[in-house]
Amino acid sequence: MGDNVKGLAILGSTGSIGTQTLDVVRAFPDDLRVVALAARRSLELLEKQVEEFRPRLVSCHGTSEEKAFLASNGCVDCSMDEIVRDPEVDLVVTATAGDVALGPTFTAINAGRDIALANKETVVMAGAMVTSRAREMGVQLLPLDSEPNAIWQCIRGEDKKISRLMITASGGAFRDTPLEKLADVSPEQALKHPTWSMGAKITVDSATMMNKAFEVIEARWLFDVPWEDIEVVVHPQSIIHSMVDFVDGSVKAQLSPPDMHLPIQYALFYPNRVYNENIRRFNPTETGTLTFEEFDHERYPCFSQALDYAKRGGTWPAALSGADDTAVELFLTKKIGFLEIAKVIREALARHHNIEDPSLQDIVAAGEWGRNQVRKVVEG
Ligand code: MG
Repeated sequence: MGDNVKGLAILGSTGSIGTQTLDVVRAFPDDLRVVALAARRSLELLEKQVEEFRPRLVSCHGTSEEKAFLASNGCVDCSMDEIVRDPEVDLVVTATAGDVALGPTFTAINAGRDIALANKETVVMAGAMVTSRAREMGVQLLPLDSEPNAIWQCIRGEDKKISRLMITASGGAFRDTPLEKLADVSPEQALKHPTWSMGAKITVDSATMMNKAFEVIEARWLFDVPWEDIEVVVHPQSIIHSMVDFVDGSVKAQLSPPDMHLPIQYALFYPNRVYNENIRRFNPTETGTLTFEEFDHERYPCFSQALDYAKRGGTWPAALSGADDTAVELFLTKKIGFLEIAKVIREALARHHNIEDPSLQDIVAAGEWGRNQVRKVVEG
């Protein structure tokens, strides 16, 4: 792309982060340009996006009739791997669900493209590998997710004398549900997140706090902070998106109303801050009280369980991610209850054979193994 225009490839353009990324692009037509879009489903929405943003490359699933709009809009139909290697792409936004972007993310890093990272699975499954490869290639991994984005903003300009990271958690849909009632909560109830509007998988992951475990794993790898120096604190208002406690006792926090447009924009324009009239401002007197609560481990068994697997390294975190994927899907389709999510993941992973120093293929295979194993546990 030209000197001043940043060329974007957005993987997962029809999802929650993808559409909000395009909102930011829409506000800055002179600075950002969509070179490529990828989406698996939601072809109708993709077609609208293609008409509006005129990408040159598109990757999607569908029959040739379903994909006819691509040719009529002058788009080339290609794979995500081809998209991320395109020379006009400066920054790849990985906003897909699950692990479909794992391979393309490595392709992008190997091609020297910076990554705006929204997809957690990539770092959860392959954190050690993805961060070391990015360092070798001089590629920036720019976190889009609000909590690691907040930490990133707090440590900017610091020489990393970090004593601990404090990741905030809203508490999810069932923060105040009596423990004895959790067995009977429905998918519909789980999908009502108190402060954020997101996709179904991540909203259930927020209710179980699997999402928060994933964010701890992300922070471990993205900021190279030891496990024991990362804490989670419940902050129901979701105004403080995370805090960093430095060695001298000074704590920095990043505050803003719960709206993903801001962390997305920060990552797209980094290292610059830009004004966007569409982004809601923080008003302290209107917000009133900010509260904090200790994390309740009994309420969220998925959390400690997930971190236990993640700390083992190897293919454990990939198997965990795959297992969670299916467990959430089975909960959403009412095959298992809410409290069974943690249980079926535990039962499945009890049979995992770890690979110590895995290749990318081993990691992908372990994710697939985790998915299948949970299905076996539930369906016998
Ligand atoms: Mg988050």
